[in-house]
Amino acid sequence: MNFHEYQAKQLFADYGIAVPKGIVARTPDEAVAAAKQIPGDLWVVKAQIHAGGRGKAGGVKLAKSHDEVHAIAKTLLGTKMATYQTAGVELPIDSVLVCEGTDIDKELYLSVLVDRDSRAITFIASAEGGMDIEQVAQEKPEAIHTLNVDFVEGLQAYQCRDLGFAMGLNAKQTNQLSVIMTGLYKLFNEKDLALVELNPLAILTDGNLAVLDGKINSDDNASFRHKDLVEMRDVRQEDPTEVKASQYDLNYVTMDGNIGCMVNGAGLAMATMDVISLNGGSPANFLDVGGGANKEKVTEAFKLILSSDKVKAIFVNIFGGIVRCDMIAEGIIAAVKEVGVKVPVIVRLEGTNVEEGKAMLRDSGLAITPADDINDGAKKAVAAASAA
Ligand code: GDP
Ligand code: MG
Repeated sequence: MNFHEYQAKQLFADYGIAVPKGIVARTPDEAVAAAKQIPGDLWVVKAQIHAGGRGKAGGVKLAKSHDEVHAIAKTLLGTKMATYQTAGVELPIDSVLVCEGTDIDKELYLSVLVDRDSRAITFIASAEGGMDIEQVAQEKPEAIHTLNVDFVEGLQAYQCRDLGFAMGLNAKQTNQLSVIMTGLYKLFNEKDLALVELNPLAILTDGNLAVLDGKINSDDNASFRHKDLVEMRDVRQEDPTEVKASQYDLNYVTMDGNIGCMVNGAGLAMATMDVISLNGGSPANFLDVGGGANKEKVTEAFKLILSSDKVKAIFVNIFGGIVRCDMIAEGIIAAVKEVGVKVPVIVRLEGTNVEEGKAMLRDSGLAITPADDINDGAKKAVAAASAA
């Protein structure tokens, strides 16, 4: 699950990390009221969407008066914004964060994530932060510092100091960095997060460090024990199909191709997408209906796939190990009858009750193309999609 910047900064503050004063607003008038509560004569008005890259897309603006705060909030609120991180999708700007404006001397980068290679919670930092960190990582990898935290020992003070000095910070800034890192490490563990990113973590002209941007991503598998985080969820920022899929406990990810995939098991689903690609096609989604899929779940899954008008063919690839092929067939038939289907459906069934399943599909009178195996199915799906 992703969070808004204002939510991330609230969580930082809860863990003892100082953040510049900021108040979220949903109307231009609220934005002005917020600015009035924030002393000084410079404010930053920031579009709240679940994506970075807002600065470059015009979603982060400086205001020198309350009138300017009003005007900027008015141009942002109620509109939609795409950034280089949203893969072409426009996200609604329902709120803005009005922050105290600061004078930046230098922008740094700091993030925390789980590094699967070292099997450790890992800090990644760079003195060359700001908006182009991806470019720094590519062109100047030596400017990126990595710190693995031993799970048993936890984050050590000397590690924070090492990182601070490696980034060229002075003693005072290194102490501030240590406080930030200690808070982030605790937050990361206690809230079961997957990613925290401060970009920029800035050195201000007065020499102090300041957390100017915050991005948090949490581990959905742990949401059952974080009701407070779940309450912060903003489904308006999420893909509507994926939101619907999550209601039915389906593992669904929207992709940009035109072949809908219904598969059981994440591994088989990945393999199915690979085989489609190898045959020159492109999947419209990742979908794992799961081992415990029942008829209702299969019906909903099928309806989800059919809800996209990009889908030109559907490839059902089921290995009935735990799930039964006849039940999958029942779900497909129910869904197709309920919503109608205008695209070719290619079905490969194997495993428990496969003969019953195949017979049900054959007798259903629906135009379903049987496939012998995964490769045959993918070929038929690619051919059907390109003929459409
Ligand atoms: P992002 O583009 O979505 O990552 O949004 P950020 O919050 O990182 O803001 C983008 C850029 O705006 C930052 O890299 C800063 O250069 C600038 N910025 C953000 N907050 C402030 C601020 O308080 N003062 C000044 N002068 N610039 C800011
Ligand atoms: Mg940023």
